[in-house]
Amino acid sequence: MDAPSPLPANWRPPPGPVFVLSGAGLSAASGIGTFRGPGGLWEGQRADELATPRAFRDDPDRVRRFYDARRAVVLAATPNPGHLALLRLQAAWGRERVHLVTQNVDGLFDVAADPTRNRTIEMHGSLLRLRCASDEDHPVVSPWPGAATAEQDPDVGCAVCGARLRPDVVWFGEVPDHVLLIHRLAIASRTFLSVGTSGVVYPAAGLVDKARQGGAVCIEVNPEPAGGAFHYVVAAPAETALPGLVDQWLGAA
Ligand SMILES: [Zn+2]
Repeated sequence: MDAPSPLPANWRPPPGPVFVLSGAGLSAASGIGTFRGPGGLWEGQRADELATPRAFRDDPDRVRRFYDARRAVVLAATPNPGHLALLRLQAAWGRERVHLVTQNVDGLFDVAADPTRNRTIEMHGSLLRLRCASDEDHPVVSPWPGAATAEQDPDVGCAVCGARLRPDVVWFGEVPDHVLLIHRLAIASRTFLSVGTSGVVYPAAGLVDKARQGGAVCIEVNPEPAGGAFHYVVAAPAETALPGLVDQWLGAA
């Protein structure tokens, strides 16, 4: 496989579905950290050790406070030009053609658009929702944004069974949401755009492989592109690259 080349200045997507996979790099300019890597500590504990079913079993209140802290950051953040550009593309070409799949749990696409859900496919859930810790089929609760505080009320349980509520996010060791749908959309796409997520680690790596095998043109937008199975790279942050790219694709520039 040839190494990816820079995206030609006049390139535009072919007719057909556009699959956009976004990751932490998209929300970085909104001030959302990943809690991973050096410095990714909360109350002296590694964040990735708190985002697990085991941590929740061992000390649910500690996990709740961790998510309260993350949610406070998210609710103080605003969408950046990268989010807005992708929503503009989807508004122009329709949700049937532009599929916004995100690994981010910050809900910033929803904040940017309007309270209407389902503009994005959130493969790792959202900090802005809670669900029953006992039965995932029980109704999801969405107190945010709008609640007076970022904190989850620990006294409010599941409306159906009374069990404790947990964040509606996918923890380490859990299966991402909408996996079959996401794979189907990747295979059917004609353009695959990866934004702010490494193209060589799961899940982006597996999805770009599927998209490429299905015949999609695969593009990576990342300040430090990892390459992999992509045809083209745009070596820039999402908030810098996407507004101009979308303008060009929509014929406004
Ligand atoms: Zn329940």
